Amino acid sequence: MTVSHTGQVALVTGAAAGIGRATALAFAAKGLAVVVSDVDENGGAQTVALIQGAGGVAHFVGCDVTRDAEVAALIARVLELYGRLDYAFNNAGIEIEKGRLAEGDEAEFDAIMGVNVKGVWLCMKHQLPVMLKQGGGAIVNTASVAGLMAAPKMSIYCASKHAVLGLTRSAAVEYARKNIRINAVCPGVIDTEMFRRAHEADPKKADFAAAMHPVGRIGKAEEVAAAVLYLCSDAAAFVTGVALPVDGGATL
Ligand code: NAD
Repeated sequence: MTVSHTGQVALVTGAAAGIGRATALAFAAKGLAVVVSDVDENGGAQTVALIQGAGGVAHFVGCDVTRDAEVAALIARVLELYGRLDYAFNNAGIEIEKGRLAEGDEAEFDAIMGVNVKGVWLCMKHQLPVMLKQGGGAIVNTASVAGLMAAPKMSIYCASKHAVLGLTRSAAVEYARKNIRINAVCPGVIDTEMFRRAHEADPKKADFAAAMHPVGRIGKAEEVAAAVLYLCSDAAAFVTGVALPVDGGATL
């Protein structure tokens, strides 16, 4: 199958797995050229192979989103490869906490804030000048339902996702008149490696995860991808600065 290339370009961070991979595949299926970025080269190469196998256009560019110089180099490489950047999905994120707030340590705090907050900030910092020069674009950041409410025993992660929404909303206002829309998705529990790592040791927690969503199940990465594509589309032309729950009703 050949997907014809629309000439539009999407960048996805954290695209070696899970929600990022599903979104990279969804952009490519719509005919966009996709820059697949991650620290995980093997996973990234697999995402590219899946896209190319379906007739799409994609390149892998390695990048640790916590490093300013690497993010600058990533955006420079996007321009070198495709000459433009229409959509960016800043999705790379980590979750490593297991205990209550007082049991956390400084290294954990710095690591989570580094990827989830500084990473999103650095990505937008380097993407926005490109979109400004082009005259428009759309950015979607991955927050979480933990950005909208408490997350017991995940307080640092919870704070990091609240911060993603602060960055998203502030940037949305700053760039609203520049034809750049900036939104966030807030997934509930989604069936990815992150979820499996957290829950495989304790099946009861998996049952609890399903039960916390009124629809009675956890979500699929493809369901988050569909929301990201909507937020990037012309159908969302009047939508900016939103924190869109994709959560089977969990935040209700
Ligand atoms: P995942 O672990 O499957 O994928 C995350 C990807 O981010 C991995 O490929 C990883 O290599 C990459 N990554 C980690 N650190 C990085 C860095 N410094 N630079 C570049 N890439 C890096 O997880 P996922 O479930 O697909 O999560 C994607 C996003 O969705 C994260 O921001 C996460 O916090 C968020 N989220 C996930 C869930 C869930 O239940 N799975 C729920 C809400 C929000």
